[in-house]
Amino acid sequence: MRYAYLKNGESLVIDGNKCTGCGICIDVCPHSVLEITEGKAMIIDKNYCMECGACRLNCPADAIAVNSGVGCAYAVLNGIISGKNASCGCDGDTSGGCC
Ligand code: SF4
Ligand code: SF4
Repeated sequence: MRYAYLKNGESLVIDGNKCTGCGICIDVCPHSVLEITEGKAMIIDKNYCMECGACRLNCPADAIAVNSGVGCAYAVLNGIISGKNASCGCDGDTSGGCC
């Protein structure tokens, strides 16, 4: 089963000019958001992206941009409690354990 996350809040972008079609982002994505089409990574549906940042961190061509951490549970709760936009502030730094 696949779950949708933050509707219309997804920051995921793939630069088709940089993508080499290696497929690593497909392997590491926990929600099957991406696929390879005609030798390039393509987004199937942004609503399934939880902005974990795994694809960006593992892309050897630096072809992916995403505001990682924005979709994580910690960030969502932070946003609800503070009344501000969802953000955990880690920007993909997994050493803190929140993403
Ligand atoms: S990991 Fe990067 S270079 Fe490889 S397919 Fe995905 S976007 Fe393209
Ligand atoms: S940020 Fe995470 S959920 Fe979104 S496409 Fe990348 S690996 Fe998949």
